[in-house]
Amino acid sequence: MLREVADLGHVCPRLEGEHRADLCIVGGGYLGLWTALEIKAAEPALEICIVEADICGGGASGRNSGMALPWWTKIEALIAQCSTQEGLRLANASVAAIDEITAFADAHKFDIEFARTGWLWGSTSPREDGRWAGIIEALERHGQAPFTELDRSGVQALVDAPGFRGGALDAACATLHPAKLVRGLRRVALERGITIFEDTAMTNLRRGNPALVETDAGQVLARRVVLAMNAWSTALPELDRGIFILTSDDAVSDPVPEFMEQHRWANGPILTDSAVFVSGYRPMADGRVSAGVSGGAIAFGHLGRTRWEGATPREGDIAAAFARGFGEGHGITFRHSWRGPIDRTRSGLPLFGPLPGHPNIHYGYGFSGNGIVGCRIGAQIMTSLVLERDDVWSNSGLVHPVEPWMPREPIRYIGAHMVRQAIRRQDHLDRLDRDAGPITRKLASLAPGGIVTTTTD
Ligand SMILES: Cc1cc2nc3c(=O)[nH]c(=O)nc-3n(C[C@H](O)[C@H](O)[C@H](O)COP(=O)(O)OP(=O)(O)OC[C@H]3O[C@@H](n4cnc5c(N)ncnc54)[C@H](O)[C@@H]3O)c2cc1C
Repeated sequence: MLREVADLGHVCPRLEGEHRADLCIVGGGYLGLWTALEIKAAEPALEICIVEADICGGGASGRNSGMALPWWTKIEALIAQCSTQEGLRLANASVAAIDEITAFADAHKFDIEFARTGWLWGSTSPREDGRWAGIIEALERHGQAPFTELDRSGVQALVDAPGFRGGALDAACATLHPAKLVRGLRRVALERGITIFEDTAMTNLRRGNPALVETDAGQVLARRVVLAMNAWSTALPELDRGIFILTSDDAVSDPVPEFMEQHRWANGPILTDSAVFVSGYRPMADGRVSAGVSGGAIAFGHLGRTRWEGATPREGDIAAAFARGFGEGHGITFRHSWRGPIDRTRSGLPLFGPLPGHPNIHYGYGFSGNGIVGCRIGAQIMTSLVLERDDVWSNSGLVHPVEPWMPREPIRYIGAHMVRQAIRRQDHLDRLDRDAGPITRKLASLAPGGIVTTTTD
C-alpha cells in the first residue's frame, strides 16, 4: 500500500549528532503521528521530534487493510477492564474516531479514499453462524444496537457474495487507504513544526529524566519520551511480555469493474468471516479488491530490524478465503501482496502507561489488529498522560500495567506455533462442520484477543 503514495520521494533527514526536544516520540505510525499532532495542538511551544526507523508509515500503518472498525466487538473486554460506563464511553469514542479521521483529512486537504461502506461480520460456514449473537446480546443489555442481523437473503440484497450465510452489519464502519492516511498525518506534522527523523532507529533508551534516545548516528535528549513502536516494542524488557506477535497478510487485485458491477460490491460492505483467524476483503475506491488473512508468521524474540518486507507466502490462503465468500470461480487474481506484524494482547485491548519507575516515559501498543480507530483513541490517552492531565483519558482503564503474560523464549516461540496450529486446525474443522479434539480445543482457547474478543486481562 505504501508504495502507492505519491510523496515517498521526500525522506526526512537521518538524525546525526545530538538533538534536544521536550518530547521524543519513537515510531512514526498512526499512534506516534496522531500523538505528536495532538500534543502540538495543545502546547504549540513544545519541541517535539519523532524518530522513525524506516519512513513514516513503514510499519503496520502503511500496510494495513484499511478497515476502520469500532470497538463494539470488544465490549465485554472493555467493560471487564474499564467499568461499564468507561467501556461504553470508549466504544462510542471508537465510533467517533471514524468521523474524526475523515474530518481531519478533509480539513487538511488530503484524500484517504474514505468510504462509509459498513462492515458485515459474517458467516461462511454453519459453525460460524451466529458467532456475533453473544456480543449483540451484551450490547443490547447496555442499550446499544450498532449491528443489524442479516440472514442469507439480507446479505444477498447488499452484495452478491453467495458464500455468506448471514451476518451482523455495522453500517458505521468505513474503509480508507491506510498509507494515504499515515502520509497525510506526516505531512501535517511537518507543517506544524514537528521534527521528523527517518531512517533513524532507536538503538537504546537510557531511562532517566531527561531520557536519552540513542540512535545509530546520534541521540535525542528529551524530558519526555513516547514509545509508539507497535510490535517492535518487545525490544524493551518492560514491554516484551505483554504481546504476542504474528503477521497478517494482505493482497490487492487489479481494478475489476465488471466483477464489482456483477456482484454489486463497488460501494458495498467490508466482508469478514467469523473464524478465530479472521479473513476479510473490501472493495477499494479504484475498483480493486483488497483481501487479507490473519494468523501468519511468528517472530522469535524481539523483531529487531525485521520488517517482513516482500510478498506474503500466503497468497494461496488469501485466494482461498476470498473463494469462501465469492465462490471458486470468482476469477480474481491478486497481483500484489505484503504482510506486517500484529501486536496482540491477551485481551485484544491496547495498553498505555508509564514505564515502571519512569513517569516521563510512556508506552502505547497492543492494538491487536484494530489500530485505525485504536490509535486515534490512543493518541488522546497518550496526550493526557504526557501533559499530566487529570481527565477521562488519563484515568481510562486502558492505562494499564503490562501483564507479563507471554512466556520467555524459546517457550514463547514453541508455544506460539502450537497455539497457531491449533487455531488453524480448529478453523479448518469448523469449516468442515467437524469437531476438533480436546487438545486442539484447549490450545486454540489460548488465542490472544483480535478484532473480536470476549476475554480480558
Ligand atoms: C496486514 C495488516 C492488516 C491490518 N488491517 C487492519 C485493519 O483493517 N484495520 C485496523 O484498524 N487495523 C489493521 N491493522 C493494524 C493496524 O495497522 C495497526 O494497529 C496500527 O497501524 C498500529 O499503529 P502504530 O502506530 O502503533 O504502529 P506502526 O504503524 O507499526 O508504527 C510503529 C513504528 O515504529 C517504528 N519503530 C519500531 N521500532 C523502532 C525503533 N527502535 N526506532 C525507531 N522507530 C521504530 C516502526 O518502524 C513503525 O513505523 C493491520 C495490520 C496489518 C499488519
